[in-house]
Amino acid sequence: MKLAINGGKKLRETPFPAYNTIGVQEEEAVLRVLRSGKLSTYIGSWHTDFYGGNEVRALEAEWADFFGVKHAISVNSATSGLYAAVGAIGINPGDEVIVSPYTMSASATAILLYGGIPVFADIEENYFCIDPKSVESKITSKTKAIMAVDIFGQASDFKALREIAKRHDLKIIEDTAQAPYAKYNGKFAGTLGDIGVFSLNYHKHIHSGEGGIVVTDDDELAFKVQLIRNHAESVLSAKGYKDKNELNNMLGFNYRMTEIEAAIASVQLTKLKDLAEERVKNVRYLEEKLRELPFLTIPPVREDCEHVYYIHPLLFNEEVASIHRNRFMDAVKAELPPTIMRDDSAVLLSYGYVKPLYLQPLYQEKICFGEYPFSLSDREYKKGDCPVCERLHYDLLITHELMRPGMSEADMDDVVAAFVKVWENRAELV
Ligand SMILES: *Cc1c(COP(=O)(O)O)cnc(C)c1O
Repeated sequence: MKLAINGGKKLRETPFPAYNTIGVQEEEAVLRVLRSGKLSTYIGSWHTDFYGGNEVRALEAEWADFFGVKHAISVNSATSGLYAAVGAIGINPGDEVIVSPYTMSASATAILLYGGIPVFADIEENYFCIDPKSVESKITSKTKAIMAVDIFGQASDFKALREIAKRHDLKIIEDTAQAPYAKYNGKFAGTLGDIGVFSLNYHKHIHSGEGGIVVTDDDELAFKVQLIRNHAESVLSAKGYKDKNELNNMLGFNYRMTEIEAAIASVQLTKLKDLAEERVKNVRYLEEKLRELPFLTIPPVREDCEHVYYIHPLLFNEEVASIHRNRFMDAVKAELPPTIMRDDSAVLLSYGYVKPLYLQPLYQEKICFGEYPFSLSDREYKKGDCPVCERLHYDLLITHELMRPGMSEADMDDVVAAFVKVWENRAELV
């Protein structure tokens, strides 16, 4: 059978179903807010509305209750949330923060915004999160915090990370944009560090178009995030803040979520459990079949953890396949259709994830605000810095999202069939 990449017929032409979780309840919520005329009631001065309007505050109470945390603070994106979190924990110019290179760029730019120096630690071969052993090897007298990213939908190794943080007096920020509803020893991801950040962007498990939520049990961190979210500098004197420690990092932004987004997010939160569980069910269905293929390895799930699969990772078994992953995966992609609602007609199947961050021009050229803050440090960012990450990215890792709710068993059978077709006809690729 001629492969599609060589001009043969595609295994499937009909697009995969859309992932659309927005329904009547969200519609009603939006209309309720629209009809009230109060699309946002924030005020950037000392007033009860400094903390946002009814919808914003209701969402925050529901989120805190759901995840079992003392404070949930809504913001207009997880990027804003990460920025506020780094500001709140008091990162100052020249401080080092250890972060994974295998994450969305904002996990690291949040550090730069406060003049901090991102120090990239390598990732775990099986779980793809920051590797505690590598973290430990990067600690210096300047290290102030660890940015742990729960990548692909699984919590980082918090037992080891917390132990390291305790020993070296470091704060932990948890970027859990990809892992809402994931659990670690029965506790929700996002609540495992000193401060956690969720995303509500369009691509995530649940969304409000754009949005983010910061969670913490620490009253002072929570208050600082609320200040940074809403023009801190203009309310500090009214609040009696004047000593240097209190003023530090209190340059405010406008990271405020609108009432419409908050109303949508409240409804979406009620769907999170079912949506996460459906992803897990779909992954189990796929894995049962993919496990039979000798050129794939299914990565394990961390012990005592529940993965929620923002992305489903697979490992390509080079020795067995004796063909490079990219060549093989280009052929698989050619057999499959795009997913509806992705206008770039992307097949949601790919090799690797994002290029290790330290290889971006930002780090290679060390230009941010001019040369600041890189000029405060003699750290260099070089190819080879995180060898496990590079090997996974360039040779071994396969990522896909063809397990999102809405995919039927027949749809997933086509995904498996595409792998099988390419495997059986791999002679065509050499
Ligand atoms: C999506 C994502 C973000 C940023 O989320 P936004 O809400 O789009 O700002 C940050 N970190 C990770 C790991 C993400 O996947």
